[in-house]
Amino acid sequence: MTWNLYDRLLASAESDQSICIEKEDGATLSYAELAALSGRFANFLARIGIGPNHRVAAKVEKSVEAIALYLATLRSGAVYLPLNTAYTPAETEYFVRDAQPTLIVCDPKEEADLRAIAAKAGGRVETLDHHGRGSLADAAADFPIAFDTAARGNDDLAAILYTSGTTGRSKGAMLTHGNLASNALTLVEEWRYSSRDVLIHALPIYHVHGLFVACNVTFAARGRILFMQKFDAERILATMARSTVLMGVPTFYVRLLESPNLNERTTANMRLFVAGSAPLLAETHRAWQARTGHAILERYGMTETGMIASNPYDGQRIPGSVGRPLPAVEVRIADPESGVALPADEVGMIEVKGPNVFAGYWNMPDKTAAEFRSDGFFITGDLGKLDANGYLHIVGRGKDLIITGGFNVYPKEIETEIDAIPGVSESAVVGVPHVDFGEGVTAAVVRSPGSSVDERTILAALSGRLAKFKQPKGIIFVETLPRNTMGKVQKNLLRERFAELYSAKAGQG
Ligand code: ATP
Ligand code: MG
Repeated sequence: MTWNLYDRLLASAESDQSICIEKEDGATLSYAELAALSGRFANFLARIGIGPNHRVAAKVEKSVEAIALYLATLRSGAVYLPLNTAYTPAETEYFVRDAQPTLIVCDPKEEADLRAIAAKAGGRVETLDHHGRGSLADAAADFPIAFDTAARGNDDLAAILYTSGTTGRSKGAMLTHGNLASNALTLVEEWRYSSRDVLIHALPIYHVHGLFVACNVTFAARGRILFMQKFDAERILATMARSTVLMGVPTFYVRLLESPNLNERTTANMRLFVAGSAPLLAETHRAWQARTGHAILERYGMTETGMIASNPYDGQRIPGSVGRPLPAVEVRIADPESGVALPADEVGMIEVKGPNVFAGYWNMPDKTAAEFRSDGFFITGDLGKLDANGYLHIVGRGKDLIITGGFNVYPKEIETEIDAIPGVSESAVVGVPHVDFGEGVTAAVVRSPGSSVDERTILAALSGRLAKFKQPKGIIFVETLPRNTMGKVQKNLLRERFAELYSAKAGQG
């Protein structure tokens, strides 16, 4: 079976008048109009010679036009390469040099920067803003080109998506038509998606969550998307009466819970709340259920693999678990060194195989080779365990595992205990070089507003709850935790900040 992604999402949409995207100002776009707009953009791409394997980089605001550009790129057979709109010129230059796009589409206000970058690194620059203006839109024209989408299938590249850069420099994940199409169709089934669904979309569209999960799944089912430029709790609550699905990062749910307007009534029309991209605290899950009567459906995935596991639509959604592996996705827990599979309930490396798993890291053949086992399993870098019922529990990232005095410490366990202490808003636990222990368990703690909780209180609260080796050697109070644009805590920055903590202490004698 061929899996051309454009065909899977928009085939015969030309005659579909149902609403595809509704903008914040109430303006709507039908599937037919989206297909037509993407056709006009695809004509332009074809006219300037873009075709299979060319990269089309897009550093554009969230807009209907950006979505049309994504679909146009697929249609022309080229590879879509979204760039985080928050990247500085220096970061953008790095990605342009790395990916060597033939075309770079940017917001008009960044045109000068991008032209300067392209002059050094190569690539043609066109502009597009979220009102649909710019050189790309102006040049797009209706002239008939028949795109042979069927010529690009399962194993052909559809996109290069850079990872979030939570653990270090972002890597370009090469994703095929087969990867993205299979994931979208699986999620339509799993989440019972249909043309009656109305999705509240407040995520960015340069990331796997907002583009490949939220948009692809809705398009594949011919549902409707309510586009919001950015997260706004009250606006989201106000649209729930006419929406059915929300896909969000855990922070969305934490913020929504702060609103007095969240209750069973405001959420009565909603049928599905999905959370992913970062761990959803069991406490958030329970608070949401108590306030709204809905159990959040937590799922797990990554740029390289799309979605891996999901709590069931029907059946028990377990707080603290990301659910069961999706159909066709094989998940095993393996010994990180040997790769040998471990029994239920043992913590090890999460490894994944299936049609969703990417084709490798762009320009990084050695890293790609190192991240795959010889039997084709991809080593995710995340640690977890499968329980006896086949539910997956994520324990944390392998890079964040702390080895102190020869013992393994999983930061999440410590964070859960610290977060439960009155006066603590949130915490992040990292390992910091320590003369005696190799690594010292170190907690960055954010106090709740008005709280004066101190180190002594925290250590006293932990003493009866955690074995001695798990207790923090240092507690540092911070205003906020460093997070990237997806709301993920950047522990490498904390480790850098605290690097000298124990060596200084040791030096003082
Ligand atoms: P980088 O690979 O550049 O360091 P990143 O891993 O954050 O960044 P993404 O691909 O956006 O980049 O994120 C995938 C990661 O997010 C997963 O490997 C996992 O660590 C984390 N993640 C996603 N969903 C969940 C979840 N439900 N619970 C816990 N962690 C999750
Ligand atoms: Mg990653």
